[in-house]
Amino acid sequence: MTENLNLFTSTQVVIKEALEKLGYDEGMYDLLKEPLRMVEVRIPVRMDDGKVKVFKGFRGQHNDAVGPTKGGVRFHPDVTLDEVRALSMWMTLKAGIVDLPYGGGKGGIICDPREMSMNELEKLSRGYVRALSQVMGPAKDIPAPDVFTNAQIMAWMMDEYSRIDEFNSPGFITGKPIVLGGSQGRDRATAEGVTIIINEAAKKHGIDMKGARIVIQGFGNAGSFLSKFLHDAGAKVVGISDAYGALHDPDGLDIDYLLDRRDSFGTVTTLFDETITNEELLELECDILVPAAIENQITEKNAHKINAKIVVEAANGPTTSEGTRILTERGILLVPDVLASAGGVTVSYFEWVQNNMGYYWSEEEVREKMTEKMVTAFDNVYTVATTRNIDMRLAAYMIGVRKTAEASRFRGWA
Ligand code: NAD
Repeated sequence: MTENLNLFTSTQVVIKEALEKLGYDEGMYDLLKEPLRMVEVRIPVRMDDGKVKVFKGFRGQHNDAVGPTKGGVRFHPDVTLDEVRALSMWMTLKAGIVDLPYGGGKGGIICDPREMSMNELEKLSRGYVRALSQVMGPAKDIPAPDVFTNAQIMAWMMDEYSRIDEFNSPGFITGKPIVLGGSQGRDRATAEGVTIIINEAAKKHGIDMKGARIVIQGFGNAGSFLSKFLHDAGAKVVGISDAYGALHDPDGLDIDYLLDRRDSFGTVTTLFDETITNEELLELECDILVPAAIENQITEKNAHKINAKIVVEAANGPTTSEGTRILTERGILLVPDVLASAGGVTVSYFEWVQNNMGYYWSEEEVREKMTEKMVTAFDNVYTVATTRNIDMRLAAYMIGVRKTAEASRFRGWA
């Protein structure tokens, strides 16, 4: 897909700029500009109709100088090698930003899980682990859920790895059901992390979250949890959207009512007559705008018209580089995706730590530890951005890539 190619090349551009600002030479960029390992596998699965279908899967391991690589596995018909390659690099950045002892990894299988039975999905999940077990493991590369994968799929994958390894290996994968060693709070971690980041950004702009006007694009996993957390904290969610349109109420939408009525794909606007478009939603006057749907939503075409004080990217890649430049010039604080959505990998790390210790924390302990990590990460990025007079995306990339660059240099890799 072209946009994923763009995602890959635009990630490379910012990594290069970040390394230059940190004083690294061309050799370091050469090392970090793509993953150290990209594996492509083919997985035969006997389907319910008795025929064998062969699925293509990928795993990208960007750099393991700091520690094992870590990142989700997505099941989607549009997964490509380039997408997995780019996303594995993003995971290095996220792990660096929240200071985890990991490098970045990512995986995917080209398939449509919505059209597969549970039996077929189980065989495919187990087949993926068998195909990659030599290069994955609790101390090598640790997968997690991503688009269209869930706790059940993680459980099958963990069970398959445990059979191959001949040990119970909960630390092989994160995002597991709680009874198999999953962490409290993992399912809501991303939205909670975004909420923490929104609170920190609001403080910097002197915005009181009680009564703050929020617009959220996307009402899926990320957007719906987020709207609930912000609404419960006293903010006024004045706009939400899904793929079919958007809802606007300057007095604040009834979030609990909308959550009750949304379907499992995050669709709710189709139930209403009075809707606006997603384009109009993005230009609504508000304090905080949160793109939480898809990529390339704020571009050179509409960045001039954004009417928010702060934009927090909960989705991956919602703002193009031109969009970033325009918002920054207009004095709108843009908090980048690699920082804002790092709550998921943070709690995944906590899950792995708990598995390694065999000792489990309460939801409250997990939340406290995550809050500490996210607040510190925000402060670090904000300080670099303001002291160096650069946008928060570049600042986040500088912090995100530094640990891996330094570890690689000590190891003699660059
Ligand atoms: P999801 O599939 O659950 O929901 C997506 C939402 O976006 C739905 O409401 C859908 O209707 C809407 N949408 C789809 N196409 C749209 C369009 N063209 N215009 C407007 N809205 C559209 O997905 P999600 O898990 O909520 O993820 C959303 C974004 O957040 C993605 O970029 C994802 O990578 C990112 N993200 C999610 C998580 C997570 O834990 N869920 C973690 C990190 C990043």
